[in-house]
Amino acid sequence: MKIAMIGTGYVGLVSGVCFSDFGHDVICVDKDPAKIEKLEQGIVPIYEPGLDDLMAKNVAAGRLSFTGDLKKAVDGADAVFIAVGTPTRRGDGHADLTYVMAAAEEIAAELTGYAVIVTKSTVPVGTNRQVKQVVSKANPKAEFDVASNPEFLREGAAIDDFMRPDRVVVGTQNERAEQVMKDIYRPLSLREFSIMSTDLESAEMIKYAANAFLATKITFINEIAALCERTGADVKMVSKGMGLDNRIGSKFLHAGPGYGGSCFPKDTQALARMGQDHSVPMQLTETVIKVNDEVKRRMIDKVVDICGGSVNGKTIAVLGVTFKPNTDDMRDSPSLTIVPSLVGNGAKVRVVDPQGKREGEALLPGVSWMDDAYKAAQNADALVILTEWNEFRALDLTRMAKRMATPVLADLRNIYSPKDAKRAGFTAYVSIGREGFG
Ligand code: NAD
Repeated sequence: MKIAMIGTGYVGLVSGVCFSDFGHDVICVDKDPAKIEKLEQGIVPIYEPGLDDLMAKNVAAGRLSFTGDLKKAVDGADAVFIAVGTPTRRGDGHADLTYVMAAAEEIAAELTGYAVIVTKSTVPVGTNRQVKQVVSKANPKAEFDVASNPEFLREGAAIDDFMRPDRVVVGTQNERAEQVMKDIYRPLSLREFSIMSTDLESAEMIKYAANAFLATKITFINEIAALCERTGADVKMVSKGMGLDNRIGSKFLHAGPGYGGSCFPKDTQALARMGQDHSVPMQLTETVIKVNDEVKRRMIDKVVDICGGSVNGKTIAVLGVTFKPNTDDMRDSPSLTIVPSLVGNGAKVRVVDPQGKREGEALLPGVSWMDDAYKAAQNADALVILTEWNEFRALDLTRMAKRMATPVLADLRNIYSPKDAKRAGFTAYVSIGREGFG
């Protein structure tokens, strides 16, 4: 099959590379010339484990190429995937569909024969019908169908998620389009896998409902964590005890500094907005958004408290600023709320993150970037763990504490325990949903 992938971001690039690995001929398009230039040189513009090797393999096999010329990619394609961004629209929380609709118009102009136009971007219910209208208006002779194929991959584990998904959801309006989608995903069925076929609207809704549910689960345990802190319960034990119940499950039950990233914040907002537009307020989701903001702000209080009530003039070493490990994505990361507040209150912040610097430099002005946790801790007044990268999971805490001016630790990912911190010589320790000391 011949596939055009419009957008080479976290989703488009991973999807394009994986489809080519299935054996399809894939041309990836991006309107950002800098990205295309890098890709043509074999450089992956984002950090995603394993992507460089898989990309190189498929480029070498002649199945995968990159271009800035959408016409070249769309010409003769069986399916054209739209994988462009759908960020929050300024001012109203709605998903901004500017990029999706612009891509649809561009595709319309270049269609040469029957193709399925597939929306992989996360879009509000009704968008695929809108895409259909836009394409028909721009090119009344175009022979095409639309399909909704939301993506569920997680950054940091994207290839595995794409190759071994829990499900593939495909919403179509007729059998012809459904068949094209089945042919594209057929290599996955070799792994006893089946596509869930739906109508357009249900496919669109599944994505938002799934993300809002996961965001709710995280926020639920974060709220329970706050109550644990006041009552003497330990949220790690509580979430383990809850998660052992199969009806609940253990995933997305880890208390932390609040959810962030490129999906949950914008998708919960877009769902809330969709509810308002249809006069069916998404009250749970609206509350989740509010509580998550409070959770992030509570993290600032924790750091200020452990610094003795003020961070002014204090040197604080922050470990991890990406929204989760194994990605360079900084979009809506909790660090973007917490770090600027510390800087604004007079702290000298040193940041260590294995991949966060490229994006983070512009987003976190006034911090100094360091490449080693031990160096960052030298003479520091506090240590704050914000992202649980592997290299921060097995720190020599005694070595860290010894070199600090004031050995206090805010462990906002519950990697360590009060016992670990005390044994290592820290004089104060605070985490999430557990009693600390100091
Ligand atoms: P991204 O911002 O990383 O990438 C989007 C890319 O599209 C950019 O490189 C941009 O230059 C390009 N682009 C925009 N308009 C274009 C056009 N007309 N022609 C060619 N290229 C164009 O975005 P992303 O994180 O990959 O997300 C894409 C979509 O997938 C979003 O709707 C998002 O909600 C959804 N999604 C993301 C994830 C994730 O983990 N990032 C997971 C599931 C779903």
